[in-house]
Amino acid sequence: MIPYENLFELNKPFNEAFKQRFSDFLNSGWYILGKYTDDFEQQFAQWNQSAYCIGVANGLDALTLSLKTFDFEPGSEVIVPSNTYIATILSITNNNLVPVLVEPDIHTYNIEPAEVEKAITPRTKAIMIVHLYGKCCNMDAIMAIKEKYNLVLIEDCAQAHGAMHKGKKAGTFGEFGAFSFYPTKNLGALGDAGAITTDNIEYADKMRKLRNYGSEKKYYNEYMGVNSRLDELQAAFLQIKLEALDSINAHKQKLAGMYLDQLKSDFILPVVDADYTDVYHIFNIRHPRRDELKAYLLEQGIGTEIHYPVPPHQQKALSHLLAGQHFPISEAIHQTTLSLPCSYCHTEKDAQFVIDNLNAF
Ligand SMILES: *Cc1c(COP(=O)(O)O)cnc(C)c1O
Repeated sequence: MIPYENLFELNKPFNEAFKQRFSDFLNSGWYILGKYTDDFEQQFAQWNQSAYCIGVANGLDALTLSLKTFDFEPGSEVIVPSNTYIATILSITNNNLVPVLVEPDIHTYNIEPAEVEKAITPRTKAIMIVHLYGKCCNMDAIMAIKEKYNLVLIEDCAQAHGAMHKGKKAGTFGEFGAFSFYPTKNLGALGDAGAITTDNIEYADKMRKLRNYGSEKKYYNEYMGVNSRLDELQAAFLQIKLEALDSINAHKQKLAGMYLDQLKSDFILPVVDADYTDVYHIFNIRHPRRDELKAYLLEQGIGTEIHYPVPPHQQKALSHLLAGQHFPISEAIHQTTLSLPCSYCHTEKDAQFVIDNLNAF
């Protein structure tokens, strides 16, 4: 059986380092916002070519706090892609702001800049883009719109650690880059974790306070903050994983390269463009008989996933906001997409087995 993902196998190469690190952590006697968090923040900022990094509890909080920093008037609009994980949308509604969904490009699956521009109203305050599946959005076009309309730009980088457009990393374009270190992400912790990157020292200072009850000095509170500190133990583990992140990304790129080279033309493959460095958090293909294909692969002992089966505008949880809206491109992607095994835990032999079976479908 080739599972879609195996977190134990993925983390096995780091087991001894984790055990040593846990022992050091335990002996330190300092379990909240200590030296591991400080060091990880500096290392991740440097790795991402960002000036500052602030660790938070998870990816959703990274997005929610990014918007919270600006104190937008309730009811202000934030433009967001219609094909994303629900967290992106919830970070907007969590701030009493209005998500304005726009369609993606059918080839890249990322937000269509022309649609962003059409959706702008006098109430629009921000654009929240998602670098989906590990591919950067069209940043030339997005940055032009951001400048033209003077909008805040927040990047959901939960799937894009290390993805680049023209050599510039995801999370360095907008006011904030919001990262998740959920265990399955390219940089994954052994639990929940997240971080925010920024080049602006004032935003960084405010964010540092917001994640810790709005306080810098203990018992003196400047803002109505939250408790969303990056867990010190997760920071300690993340330092170890960060050292391997370039190798993890390279491994996923190698497996993706095999799929791209060898899969037959019945499958719609991710687009490849020299301006974009993709990190394949998810390697997806599309096929009109997706459900049949998924069942067939499972019979051959191959696990797959669907990212995602239901688009946000059709989710029950958001029906009071989005019912009646239609996004045909997004819906077409949701109906046909299938994610293939492409993890650090998979070997080239695994990928070859997946390819041979897919080509026999
Ligand atoms: C994983 C993910 C998130 C949320 O991250 P958590 O750490 O689970 O809160 C947000 N946006 C996207 C696109 C994601 O894939």
